[in-house]
Amino acid sequence: MTRLVIVGGGHAAAQLAASLAEKRFSGQVVLVSDEAQIPYHRPPLSKTLIKDPEAPLPELRGAAFYEQAGIELRLGTRVLSIDRARKALRLSSPEGESELAYEHLVLATGAKARELPQAPIGTPGVHYLRTYAQAQALRDALPQARRVVVLGGGFIGLEIAATARQLGKEVVVFEAMPRLLARAVSPAISDFLLETHRQAGIDIRLGTMVDGLDMAQGRAIGVIAGGEPVPADLIIAGIGATPDVELARDAGLDCDNGIVVDATMATGDPAISAIGDCTSFPHPAWPQPLRLESVQNANDQAKTLAARLCGEPQPYTAVPWFWSDQGEARLQITGLWRPGHESVLRPASRGNGFSVLHFDGVQLRAIESVNSPVDQMAARRLMQAGQSPDKAMAADPAHPLKAA
Ligand SMILES: Cc1cc2nc3c(=O)[nH]c(=O)nc-3n(C[C@H](O)[C@H](O)[C@H](O)COP(=O)(O)OP(=O)(O)OC[C@H]3O[C@@H](n4cnc5c(N)ncnc54)[C@H](O)[C@@H]3O)c2cc1C
Repeated sequence: MTRLVIVGGGHAAAQLAASLAEKRFSGQVVLVSDEAQIPYHRPPLSKTLIKDPEAPLPELRGAAFYEQAGIELRLGTRVLSIDRARKALRLSSPEGESELAYEHLVLATGAKARELPQAPIGTPGVHYLRTYAQAQALRDALPQARRVVVLGGGFIGLEIAATARQLGKEVVVFEAMPRLLARAVSPAISDFLLETHRQAGIDIRLGTMVDGLDMAQGRAIGVIAGGEPVPADLIIAGIGATPDVELARDAGLDCDNGIVVDATMATGDPAISAIGDCTSFPHPAWPQPLRLESVQNANDQAKTLAARLCGEPQPYTAVPWFWSDQGEARLQITGLWRPGHESVLRPASRGNGFSVLHFDGVQLRAIESVNSPVDQMAARRLMQAGQSPDKAMAADPAHPLKAA
């Protein structure tokens, strides 16, 4: 029987296991993850989970699912290396090192939090947030902190800042760029979020580099920003993530801002595929290869791969979508905004939400919505069908969003 080994315990790995089970994949499936928990939802880590000491592990599927589907879970087990010639993995677990053979290997290794050179993961006083274990550490530390300093005004940094503020903390966010989320969202959304977070009482300092950390007896007790010391009871580094390509690169697979795959998630080695945050992949709507960090991308790439492994190959063409909850603001994005798009503002027909639609000529390329889920979903359906609304109609909330 074919043995398919999935390396990773995140959204992509869990979805692949589920899709293979759904399609009655005939081989044996083994999922190897270095995390101690069964695969869980990562988004709540920066939102609900760090607020609630009672919050349980947000499992993607219960243990019974894996058992019933006959999927073997090897948790707390790290893959150290891939021997492509022998089709074997070197594993490390608390029981020691061992070997696992594969006929097909899937790398779903995700992304790793980018580390501050002066405060690697584990530095007392500095928190990173990528895993459930890190979320638990942050949840335990937050009650004792009065002043929280967040490094990075990206999605995770802003979500944690909003959550910490809701818990009554004094919060300062340092962002090196002149606007929030500069690479991911349009200026209209950056401005809105800046205003919203400042109104909530978060001190956001744009265009400010953190030069270093203030250390006392091995513990970070503040940061130095623009030459000034800023004290902190707790520092959170939310300075982005990098694709986890170590295994792939060491095994000689092509990596370029991610493990390079084709439209069916195949690497250059016919026995190895890759899915999720760790991949760099082609997409028909964009000229350059993409690398995305989103639940949608992890799930849809897993479904694309499951289809190929079950003999129904199809290219990956899913329209990207994403969400981020920041305090009272629910941001939803479909498509990818790029500078140069023509932007159309559309107030929500009810409430104080709004959307910004981004066009390339007459083609709708992206929609960013704040507390406007109806318009977001309508535009997402249009984009998935390759359709676009008329720009003048799009600006008028009295007209529903439909194809021109
Ligand atoms: C705090 C936080 C909030 C987020 N919020 C949102 C959101 O609101 N909306 C959204 O769309 N996305 C959000 N994301 C992003 C989303 O969680 C990721 O895009 C998604 O988890 C990607 O899934 P993945 O399976 O590719 O990678 P991951 O979920 O990162 O999983 C990778 C897995 O591989 C394991 N692994 C890596 N190397 C090895 C090895 N050598 N041996 C064994 N195991 C290994 C890792 O431990 C991990 O379990 C958030 C992410 C974080 C961290």
